[in-house]
Amino acid sequence: MKPPKFEYRAARTVEEAVSLLQEAGEDAKILAGGQSLVPMLNFRLTRPSHLIDINKVSELDYIREKDGKLAIGALTRERTIERSALVRQKFPLLTEATEWIGHVQIRNRGTIGGSVAHADPASEYPALVVLSDAELTIQGPDGSRTTTWDEFFVTYLTTSLQPFEVLTELRFPLPKPGSGYAFVELARRHGDFALVGCAAQVTMNGKGTCQEARLALIGVGPFPHRSPDAEAMLKGQKLTDKLISEAGQKISEEVEPEGDMHASTEYRRAMSKVFTERALKKALSRVQGGK
Ligand SMILES: Cc1cc2nc3c(=O)[nH]c(=O)nc-3n(C[C@H](O)[C@H](O)[C@H](O)COP(=O)(O)OP(=O)(O)OC[C@H]3O[C@@H](n4cnc5c(N)ncnc54)[C@H](O)[C@@H]3O)c2cc1C
Repeated sequence: MKPPKFEYRAARTVEEAVSLLQEAGEDAKILAGGQSLVPMLNFRLTRPSHLIDINKVSELDYIREKDGKLAIGALTRERTIERSALVRQKFPLLTEATEWIGHVQIRNRGTIGGSVAHADPASEYPALVVLSDAELTIQGPDGSRTTTWDEFFVTYLTTSLQPFEVLTELRFPLPKPGSGYAFVELARRHGDFALVGCAAQVTMNGKGTCQEARLALIGVGPFPHRSPDAEAMLKGQKLTDKLISEAGQKISEEVEPEGDMHASTEYRRAMSKVFTERALKKALSRVQGGK
């Protein structure tokens, strides 16, 4: 299928992108890597009047460490993140998450801002926004605002971004010393979207006690699932197999996955326990020097 007709405009700055969006009206859409938007156009799932291309907005393409956070411009390509030595050194969970995204051709074009703005419930980057309580900066006609995932993600493929707004930056707090991480997921074939996935980050003290645990699951609800109760069960404890299993059980009772042609509700619920356990065990092994 070919896409429906649209007007095309290209911006060179964020300011220009915002004003082109305003000129075009509420039916306009931003075009970043096009890896989600173009298939949706071709399937006629969306019919924007205008596409505002931000691919030349180079001010949105960067990865920097600042004030204990990793600041990433929204137009940074997934492949750039995957290959970044800074990301691998400071926040390797982000590297591991990126390796799960589609295929290299997709990652060459797809951007972190596009992925988070698209808000697919099986996408990896939204999970890391949720897990690490990342800050999201958004620019619109009235200037810039900062938000967090609990305000940003609304439901399936829906965020609180307003019609003339551009997501500009994501800031991920860096893991504390003594942290281990893992992103594990279940997909039918390599490169497919996850049926279920779990990101885990655990911070241990020198005595083998968990100081902090963060968990975010994908594929089990309208947006990534964070479990304050399961995290609280782990905090202050030794992470025994029994406790990890109980945390997995807790999560499987909380999540509300929808069944589809790929996996039933019951299967996704069962896998949320399995993959929480796997992620926690792998994260813990990495604190202890494992791979
Ligand atoms: C075959 C295939 C497999 C894939 N597998 C995976 C996978 O396993 N995991 C995964 O996470 N993703 C996967 N993807 C999606 C891929 O990661 C996309 O690149 C990503 O979801 C969207 O990023 P994009 O830059 O291409 O955005 P686009 O497709 O250009 O835009 C997506 C949406 O976000 C909006 N948008 C884009 N940038 C901004 C911005 N800065 N501010 C406000 N709104 C914005 C657009 O208007 C549009 O509505 C796959 C894609 C394909 C085609």
